[in-house]
Amino acid sequence: MARYIFITGGVVSSLGKGLASAALGALLQARGFSVRLRKLDPYLNVDPGTMSPFEHGEVFVTDDGAETDLDLGHYERFTGVAARKTDSISSGRIYSNVLEKERRGDYLGKTIQVVPHVTNEIKNFLRIGGDEVDFMLCEIGGTVGDIEGLPFFEAIRQFIHERPRGECILMHLTLLPYLAASGELKTKPTQHSVKELQSIGLAPDVLVCRSEHAIPEREREKIALFCNVRKEAVIPAYDLNSIYEAPLAYHREGLDQAVLDAFQISPAPRPDLRKWEDVVDRIHNTDGEANIAIVGKYTQLEDAYKSIKEALVHGGMANRVKVNVSWVDAEVFDKEDAAPYLEGYHAILVPGGFGERGTEGKIKAAEFARTRKIPYLGICLGMQMAVIEAARNVAGVSRAGSEEFDHEAGEKRFEPVVYHLKEWIQGNHKVERKATDDKGGTMRLGAYNATLASGSKVADVYGSTQIEERHRHRYEVDIRYREKLETCGLAFSGMSPDGRLPEIVEWKDHPWFIGVQFHPELKSKPFDPHPLFRDFVRAAVETSRLV
Ligand code: GLN
Repeated sequence: MARYIFITGGVVSSLGKGLASAALGALLQARGFSVRLRKLDPYLNVDPGTMSPFEHGEVFVTDDGAETDLDLGHYERFTGVAARKTDSISSGRIYSNVLEKERRGDYLGKTIQVVPHVTNEIKNFLRIGGDEVDFMLCEIGGTVGDIEGLPFFEAIRQFIHERPRGECILMHLTLLPYLAASGELKTKPTQHSVKELQSIGLAPDVLVCRSEHAIPEREREKIALFCNVRKEAVIPAYDLNSIYEAPLAYHREGLDQAVLDAFQISPAPRPDLRKWEDVVDRIHNTDGEANIAIVGKYTQLEDAYKSIKEALVHGGMANRVKVNVSWVDAEVFDKEDAAPYLEGYHAILVPGGFGERGTEGKIKAAEFARTRKIPYLGICLGMQMAVIEAARNVAGVSRAGSEEFDHEAGEKRFEPVVYHLKEWIQGNHKVERKATDDKGGTMRLGAYNATLASGSKVADVYGSTQIEERHRHRYEVDIRYREKLETCGLAFSGMSPDGRLPEIVEWKDHPWFIGVQFHPELKSKPFDPHPLFRDFVRAAVETSRLV
């Protein structure tokens, strides 16, 4: 059975628990251990699928089709371990499972209570796959003391208590605020948050302290004394230029050693950190820059496109260039000429999205990239917009649009070049959906295969004609427009294995114009950049050298 590491946070939210968890996972791997990372979210939504990207950031999709928290993206990017449906759970899901069992009569008429029924459900979740890895890292969302989080903390307390001694540890992240007036780092909030943990029967083995200033030895000793942790287990976490410096920075501060000490694993295997040294070297030693515009809707909140932003960074690392990302709001030029807003960028990326708002601007961005021969990567909605642009402006389908927008507006205004798919094949079974199904989980979700046309640009980029990528969408490009569009030069260069669903389009007479129905960004890693992002950035660099 795996050793368990629970990761909690105190004082304030957004301390970087997800990043600390991911970095620790990477460090344990560097010492030869296998890991899996998990996220337990206290909110009551059943999953993040229907949460607004404005509020919650990106929805991260797993191969097995779960819509999960964006922290799972960090986990994958740092460890390379593909996340699964069973790596993310919310209070909403836990309660809904418990209530479903109650309705089925599984509890034999008992009174259903938070302890033991809800906590048992949480513990069952924690145990899944516990025999597959050396370490299971479980991050609890929110901060200690939140009302919603209590059942999770109680379940962890029970879980630790039931397991043999020394097989579970708790790592707690806090903040040391700096008071400029007195020039001091304050440890009191940390002491309070540890006290809060202790009041519910939990005690940290490792304390990670976020701080903008160097933590003096004296303060470290004080924290250790007052919080009942060993001094070596008080780990400073300072701000970094790049998140990918986190594994090496945490290693320097002794995080992985403190964790192994807490488990009494001795002697600790020596770490091999070459992979991360190379990653950091690629960030710091660059030659050239590329300016890339992301033309989207959720541009005020960068977390809404977290994986895309990271995949572009990875693409930059692959080419040893610095990628400067600009967020351009598509709505601004919905009714105007896009050129003044897009001129000067070396490449344009139109990401995924839902709803009609801003789509006319995205269509203009696709037109701008096509006619000016600027590299274009369209992802999901970004591909659909490129197809609509081609249909309207090249193939003469003047009313071309997506059924999604007509559904939203409740009137028929467009000729649906992109339509609502009601049934499709996944692997060897048929999936069916009705237009009236619930909003949550009615999409084509998760990993699907695609076959690429040999000799196409994408086959060259991937170095293969068989790929598997993750999907999250309801609408599809209608195959009935294929012939018309191909005659105009827009090649359907990637198709579903049954040949019914367009997966990739590309303009033949363009240096780099590719639209993909899936989300390649979800599979990119700093040490293994996704081929599409690697080549897109390469094309952007080429454009930058032309001007
Ligand atoms: N809204 C579009 C659809 O559902 C695109 C979704 C996306 O970009 N992820 O098909």
